[in-house]
Amino acid sequence: MQVSSAAATWWLSVPVLALLGLAIGSFLNVVVHRLPRMMERDWWADVAHAMGDGESFRRTFDADAPKAMAAGAADLTQRLEGLAPYGLARPGSACPACGHRIRWYENIPVFSWVALRGRCSACRTPISVRYPLLELLTAALFAAAGWRFGAQPVALLWCAVLAVLVALAAIDWDTTLLPDSLTLPLLWGGLVAAALGWSGLALIDALWGVLAGYLSLWSVYWLFKKATGKEGMGFGDFKLLAALGAWLGWQAILPIVLMASVIGAAVGIAMKVSGSLREGRYVPFGPFLAGGGVVVLLAGTERVLGWIGQR
Ligand SMILES: [Zn+2]
Repeated sequence: MQVSSAAATWWLSVPVLALLGLAIGSFLNVVVHRLPRMMERDWWADVAHAMGDGESFRRTFDADAPKAMAAGAADLTQRLEGLAPYGLARPGSACPACGHRIRWYENIPVFSWVALRGRCSACRTPISVRYPLLELLTAALFAAAGWRFGAQPVALLWCAVLAVLVALAAIDWDTTLLPDSLTLPLLWGGLVAAALGWSGLALIDALWGVLAGYLSLWSVYWLFKKATGKEGMGFGDFKLLAALGAWLGWQAILPIVLMASVIGAAVGIAMKVSGSLREGRYVPFGPFLAGGGVVVLLAGTERVLGWIGQR
């Protein structure tokens, strides 16, 4: 898919990619807000299913399920069936404070937030500055992908990777979750892109990248757990680094982890100084892994290795 004519690729130029990033960033705000709530619904459906399965209870506990269990399952099932549909596309966006339906002209990335001075047009409740900031961040990353990969269709592929990384970082920061529904497609997508020659990576390097990404953090996790009895990371972190390995190759794993540690240390110090690092609060590793991945994706493995004196 080599498009060489400059006239044909204006739609992949840096300014156009930045505008696309604003629009995608607006959608990512929806994903970041709703995906964890969609997962919560799924968990309650799983709970209802397990509570209603008397056979499974007997196999597991070697006893009859208490009567209250079946009643609880029926109650949960009824509540779940009574819920209005909830997904990425529906319902339309509304103010969480007053339920005001957000109209299209109130939903223009960044501009609407500025025009509304960061408040709901109906009830004047402040709208978090994080919404426009996430849109601007996505726009900046898309522009950087355009600069790094040129006005080629492959730039769009890397924009997609960056978008998933932004969503994962924000969701992990909010909830300490890295949804499988994002990490696993990212991982498979990287392998497919390598197989088709789209990511410019040999398939074997991508495969070793998956293995090195997963096993390196998994080993650290078990050593840390054996030594301290605590869990310093989650399985989502292993899957995220495996996915980055699929896109960037095994050569990128060490640079990504180093960059993640640098970013994590900087943010940790900043939080300590500003007093926002509360005692006992769990700071997830995923946002820093995603950040390390973004740095290596945009700068290139070779350049990052150069920074740390390895090339
Ligand atoms: Zn409102």
